[in-house]
Amino acid sequence: MTAAPVLVVAAALVDDLAAPSALLAARRCTPAALAGRWEFPGGKVEPGEPPRDALRREIREELGVEIRLGAELVGPAEGAWPLARPYVLRLWLAAVVGGTPRPLVEHDELRWLPAGRWHDVPWLDADLPILTALVGAVVPR
Ligand code: C5P
Repeated sequence: MTAAPVLVVAAALVDDLAAPSALLAARRCTPAALAGRWEFPGGKVEPGEPPRDALRREIREELGVEIRLGAELVGPAEGAWPLARPYVLRLWLAAVVGGTPRPLVEHDELRWLPAGRWHDVPWLDADLPILTALVGAVVPR
């Protein structure tokens, strides 16, 4: 029997939703198997929680900032992006509207990657195809 998918939500935080240039990458420090790899910050949706609310909550908890959500980067599997089973991910463009991001929980470094350098850190394997699709969908300046 296959376990039901578990929805993870994540943010592609950019400096400017109207004209994205820099993208925020977050380096995981936990669990050990993922430590040192970079990701779109986010986390699991709680039962009954609307995904966008979950994303705002996760970013508040993990980075200490309030965000505004932009467009969703719709994935190939019923709108989501497959991760390691049972997880699937939905990703939204987002911008910080309150505070300065800091690594509070499961990250030990944050980095704003400038335009043309979004691939410059070792992303989680699962996030790489999503990053590639993002670069194709968003024209960095
Ligand atoms: O952040 P959290 O541990 O709740 O994420 C649940 C799962 O989703 C983890 O296995 C993590 O590797 C994966 N994930 C991912 N890419 C992200 C966020 C989470 O592959 N951007």
